[in-house]
Amino acid sequence: MMTSGHLACPGCGAAIAMRLALKSLGPDTIVVIPACCWAVIPGPFPYSNMKVPLMHTAFETTGAVLSGIRAALDIKENKTTQIMGWAGDGGTFDIGLQSLSSAAERNEDVIYVCYDNEAYMNTGIQQSGATPEFTWTTTTPVDFPKMTPKKNIDRIMASHGIPYLATTSPAFPHDLMAKFEKAKKIKGFRFIHILASCTAGWKIDSEKSIEVMRKAVDSKVFPIFEVENGEKYTINIEPKGIPVQDYLSMQGRFRHMTQEQIESYQQYIDKSWNWLKKQAR
Ligand code: SF4
Repeated sequence: MMTSGHLACPGCGAAIAMRLALKSLGPDTIVVIPACCWAVIPGPFPYSNMKVPLMHTAFETTGAVLSGIRAALDIKENKTTQIMGWAGDGGTFDIGLQSLSSAAERNEDVIYVCYDNEAYMNTGIQQSGATPEFTWTTTTPVDFPKMTPKKNIDRIMASHGIPYLATTSPAFPHDLMAKFEKAKKIKGFRFIHILASCTAGWKIDSEKSIEVMRKAVDSKVFPIFEVENGEKYTINIEPKGIPVQDYLSMQGRFRHMTQEQIESYQQYIDKSWNWLKKQAR
């Protein structure tokens, strides 16, 4: 469903994620992509490395376009085709949040995927709502890094009471593929949040991509869990509990952080993890 010849940078986590997701969903899938790196990755018309129907849409409209395609397929009595939105963090946490929330509130029968590389990578690495506190981006330079925490999109989406929400990572391909397999069998709105490394924006070597995404999970920075009907929390991968510094020190975007900021970030991650553990009891 995804052939060679794509235009992503080597080591792009979002490219690996799409290949795995489509392996699970299969050829009977329509993909909707707003402005983001993935609007470029498949290649310019008439060339495409995607072997499924693909629709490009405006930044803010992914939720609305998914809803429209669902309505059209319902009129044709097509209940089998999967409809998947595939948006970056800017198009999800920020610009597309309104149409995403509306589609979730209507419980549209679609899958919405956010591949989250924690900034607007396609337009030059600007801060997004997904950018963690203290991070360097081109709009939060080293002397003025971001000073507010990452928006908690999972809690926002879980509060809609949607049938299925999951987080996953290309560093754990079996988990990622199993979650798409599971999502495929559920009716109603499904939200899948993928942490996807960006070699340019995270300032890492391409061959370190999988290792850094694995450390995000093992340091509890990006826990792997699912939420059913907004209530039933399950942690799917138990982190090793390595210090967050092990994750941060691999990436140039955190290189300026002071010891005090690293400790503050560790406390924030511990607090978030404890909250999640309580929900999953
Ligand atoms: S800029 Fe980042 S997200 Fe975009 S294609 Fe390159 S590695 Fe992937």
